[in-house]
Amino acid sequence: MKKVQNLSNSRSLWSTFLPEENTRAPGLGATLPCKWPADISRRLVGNLVISKMRKFEKTILPVWFQRSPIDICPEEAYYCRFPAQSNPYPAEEYQGVLKGHHFELTPPLEVEVLGQQLRLVSIHFHAPSEHHLSGHQYPLELHMVHEIVKPTNGSTRFVIGVWFASQSSDDCRGAQFLKAVCAHTTDTKIDLSKCLPEDTGKFYRYEGSLTTGSYDEDVSWMVMHDPVPAPDHLLRQLKPEPDIAPTPVNRRYVLRSYPPT
Ligand SMILES: [Zn+2]
Repeated sequence: MKKVQNLSNSRSLWSTFLPEENTRAPGLGATLPCKWPADISRRLVGNLVISKMRKFEKTILPVWFQRSPIDICPEEAYYCRFPAQSNPYPAEEYQGVLKGHHFELTPPLEVEVLGQQLRLVSIHFHAPSEHHLSGHQYPLELHMVHEIVKPTNGSTRFVIGVWFASQSSDDCRGAQFLKAVCAHTTDTKIDLSKCLPEDTGKFYRYEGSLTTGSYDEDVSWMVMHDPVPAPDHLLRQLKPEPDIAPTPVNRRYVLRSYPPT
């Protein structure tokens, strides 16, 4: 009678085709077809894995694919019929604490933007602007940072970006905020409605990230098309920050709220 080979122990079966000295790379589960003594192979493979992992952490992990800021190109953005959006902030002065570039609201302000309930917690700015418009960089960009009250799509923050453009006159929408910043006022009142341009119906929407710190990709961005006019001599008093280059749009869509002309 022919002897039937027991195939239940596949490890012992495979071992018949491989040299005895073979070993397994720690944690990889792969058998190495080499004839070196097991302990040397294990040490070499272990070092190789560690160096590869360190290289991976340094080179691969910091690469994000939904980063902000971006260069917004209106002709490449998709026109989308958004609900009519009026200025969500009341035309009244709101108390807060201004520290350098940051204005903390006390308490946060509940608003509704594009049908979403948001909580405006702080305002800060970057000079020059982080987002570009068709390659153009503005002297300043304001970020209105909101928490999303009931997050549903992975984003937990909703940030409205507003470009400021210089003009010669002091009589303009962006004057109050910049005057407070340049005067180094701490406790101050800001008319939040004037932090947005007069026309709030023209804007861009895309999904992105924080632009500093942990760069968390959990930010829904709304960037206003029209800049807020601001006094040139106040913009010139701001100490320029290191420039941050726009990041690739990659597989995302940038939406715009106004039709092509
Ligand atoms: Zn910012």
